[in-house]
Amino acid sequence: MSLWLDDYEHHVNPGLARLFRFMGLDRAEVHAHGVWVTTEDGERYLDASSGYGVMVHGYTHPRLVAVAHAQIDRMALSSRVLPSSQAAELGRLLAEVTPGDLSLTFFSNSGTEAVEAALKFARRATGRARFVAAEGAFHGKTFGSLSVSGREAYRAPFRPLLPEVVHVPYGDAGALAAAVNEATAAVILEPIQGEGGIVVPPAGYLAAARAACDAQGALLILDEVQTGMGRTGRMFAAEHDGVVPDLMCLAKALGGGIVPLGATVGNERAMGFFAEDPLLHTSTFGGNPLACAVGAQAVRVAVEEDFPGQARRKGQRLRQGIESAVGHVPGLVDEVRGRGLMLGLVTPAAGVGGALMAELLEARVLAVYTLNNPRVIRIMPPVVITDEEVDELVERIGRAAEQVARSLPELLAEGA
Ligand code: PLP
Repeated sequence: MSLWLDDYEHHVNPGLARLFRFMGLDRAEVHAHGVWVTTEDGERYLDASSGYGVMVHGYTHPRLVAVAHAQIDRMALSSRVLPSSQAAELGRLLAEVTPGDLSLTFFSNSGTEAVEAALKFARRATGRARFVAAEGAFHGKTFGSLSVSGREAYRAPFRPLLPEVVHVPYGDAGALAAAVNEATAAVILEPIQGEGGIVVPPAGYLAAARAACDAQGALLILDEVQTGMGRTGRMFAAEHDGVVPDLMCLAKALGGGIVPLGATVGNERAMGFFAEDPLLHTSTFGGNPLACAVGAQAVRVAVEEDFPGQARRKGQRLRQGIESAVGHVPGLVDEVRGRGLMLGLVTPAAGVGGALMAELLEARVLAVYTLNNPRVIRIMPPVVITDEEVDELVERIGRAAEQVARSLPELLAEGA
């Protein structure tokens, strides 16, 4: 039995340690490259979930590791008394690659911080307090982000949350427009819901959200923490609908799979207040030289290696492969949905999803379900996955599906 897992149980998170043991995951990961993660006993897993969506560049991308090493040797963290050029460079790059007039960036260290900042900026810019968010949304677990997230199980133990938050069904433009009024500071949406179950909204939904905000003088916040950096087949998923938000939240892949990095990118209206009030919102570690040097290289790599194009092409190959592999097992998967390399396998019941996940692990594929919808197994490998690795992943998914097929009738009966 692993001693470190005992330490994990006694000193980190007892419940999670038990879960690791129950799933047979009692070997620590020790190194990872590209799409492959290796454990201490030498087992290699193909990571089909990219560390919850982080590894768009894959693990330890050589161009990013080189920049990280060089920056650590020079200076990792900032004095914060003197300005650092790395933040300035990444700010300019983000202004260049994000759509429309987004031009200013506040740097933080995680997705939830990027969302917290956006919520505060929307209040500061509009002088209003109300937020409209979507059912099933996931924006993080600090108080503000949790308040606009849409899963009651995570919210209930922590009430009271932010007041004046209204949740509407995701994808319903009429319900959204009806909820936005002259007291609304902002509408916050994911352009594709990730943890809600890889839900792609109907075409025109984001444009309708933009129009509803404009009609009432509210801001539009798009949370691209999971969808950004090319994963969905565009650099940012908002571009599928040609929509420009007032504030865009980024994290996960922005750090290139090397460093934690969050960013809230906004237009003058949303973030112009920094001109008069530069210290109104701050973070000690946010914008540090190491994270920003790696982040800038992560953006350059995503542009130069055409991550959006790669995600489109490989996503299509993966989707077709999965559809044909799971098609051999009727009743196992209702639908494969998503965009680019952000795919979800929708199973008919949470028990079926759990069984499929267990068999995927058995086939040495790292997969997880979406946090707000345990019926949906996310398949979102790094964009650097090769065609051969896509085929290998498909073959392993097919093998796992055949295994689940044996117990499918009982699993469906349990879920009924
Ligand atoms: N927003 C979205 C869309 C996410 O998917 C996540 C995490 O999964 C977050 C925010 C929160 O990010 P973090 O876990 O880095 O705080």
